[in-house]
Amino acid sequence: MIKTDILIIGAGPTGLFTVFEAGLLKLKCHLIDALPQPGGQCSELYPKKPIYDIPGFPEILAGDLTKNLLEQAKQFEPGFTLGERADTVEKQEDGTFIVTTNKGTKHQAPVVAIASGLGSFEPRKPQLENLSKFEDKGVEYMIKEPEVYRGKKVIIAGGGDSALDWSIFLADIAESVTLIHRRNEFRGHLDSVEKVQELKDAGKINLITPAEVTDILGDGKVEAIEITKKDEEPFTLETDHFIPLFGLSPKLGPIANWGLEIEKNAIKVNNALDYQTNIPGIFAIGDGNFYPGKLKLILCGFHEATIMCQAAYQIIHPGKKNVLKYTTVSGVDGFDGTRK
Ligand code: FAD
Repeated sequence: MIKTDILIIGAGPTGLFTVFEAGLLKLKCHLIDALPQPGGQCSELYPKKPIYDIPGFPEILAGDLTKNLLEQAKQFEPGFTLGERADTVEKQEDGTFIVTTNKGTKHQAPVVAIASGLGSFEPRKPQLENLSKFEDKGVEYMIKEPEVYRGKKVIIAGGGDSALDWSIFLADIAESVTLIHRRNEFRGHLDSVEKVQELKDAGKINLITPAEVTDILGDGKVEAIEITKKDEEPFTLETDHFIPLFGLSPKLGPIANWGLEIEKNAIKVNNALDYQTNIPGIFAIGDGNFYPGKLKLILCGFHEATIMCQAAYQIIHPGKKNVLKYTTVSGVDGFDGTRK
């Protein structure tokens, strides 16, 4: 059981900044994210796009903003459960919540902050009848730990940047890499397409196009896949892993069943006070909440996180007075020149 003060669901910009604001109040945070890396939309959808409306930064790349937020949060030593989706919440008799992920990891906290943005990014899956039978048994939709593939046979399917970039990366690690795409043209960056072509010419990537995976074969785990090229008979190829990288689409997902009031596909909160939901102790901040006048902007998420942390403090330390201080005088390590 992972125990913390504020359990944050979603490690996007809002969730990451919550760690900092909570840290100033000496509250510990743990973040859960369905993605294998923090940063939410900024790292998943547009890491190289400049953002112009972060106060104090005339221009910053979304990927650099994520790096900076992680750096700012680091001093408060947040915990992370990455690559797992928060699935269920149970209120305990002592008022705390237990949140369990799809992989069975349990987290306990007196305050839950849902910073789930557009929702949990779920992989788009190929239409294969027996797919679910092989999930986590050789079929993976995201690469969390590249070392898993060292010396293994890997088949990747897809035509975007993820499929290209991981094929290039794994070409040095895996025993063999096969990239399958249903078209001859790829959607990814020209640089990556050219690199894949070079690796193909060097015999380091096996490129099969236009083709589709039409079946998965194996006894308890993936052993081979069936591939069908346009207007040709299907053939099979032995493999240890089949990784379809068809992109991710965000879904509110299981949080929709937590008994929270939902409006406009987002979680309704009390914006006049503290961004608490209809369940006391559960807050919703950032893109995933709804209130009249809501703007889905990063700086709005930062503001909501700040207000929410003050209310969380009162739940965690009832009756204790918290006097708002500026970071330069708050006595937090690193801010008053007395780094311990
Ligand atoms: P998100 O960034 O969506 O992060 C939420 C995280 O929660 C995700 O990582 C998700 O995987 C995770 N999650 C959700 N449900 C679960 C679950 N059940 N279990 C585990 N994890 C879960 N905003 C600006 O202010 N300026 C801009 O210039 C700007 N440009 C943009 C450009 C584009 C192309 C896009 C798409 C958005 C842009 N935005 C911009 C909007 C901005 O990205 C969002 O406002 C911001 O990302 C919201 O942050 P968040 O942390 O609330 O949510």
